[in-house]
Amino acid sequence: MSDCIFCSIVNGDIPSNKVYEDDEILAFRDIAPEAPVHIVIVPKLHVANILDLDESSDLGQKMLKVASKIAKDEGIAESGFRIVNNCNADGGQTVFHLHFHLLGGRNLKWPPG
Ligand code: C5P
Repeated sequence: MSDCIFCSIVNGDIPSNKVYEDDEILAFRDIAPEAPVHIVIVPKLHVANILDLDESSDLGQKMLKVASKIAKDEGIAESGFRIVNNCNADGGQTVFHLHFHLLGGRNLKWPPG
């Protein structure tokens, strides 16, 4: 999608601090981190949000596996971390290209605001 900021990151028009990439998924450090480790995991394919994820697709599962791998690589697996998906307005979604936030490196409070 031409006006999607994450599509622009995926195609390299907007630079990002990449931590993981494969044929289907890109992960990069969030530009405004909410925790010492804050990584955004996106599919390369434009999907607006989790509601639009194809039932037959295993993309969500692959994204979760990538999040888990990155958590280990970043050294936050043992101490703990959080994977967040904000969906639509009340969920706090601001970029309408599916993404998971991987947050860690500090004691995260619950419930979120
Ligand atoms: O869940 P939500 O849609 O609000 O998350 C979007 C996230 O994308 C924000 O945490 C924002 O800081 C991040 N972002 C980024 N790089 C950009 C634009 C947004 O890391 N160029």
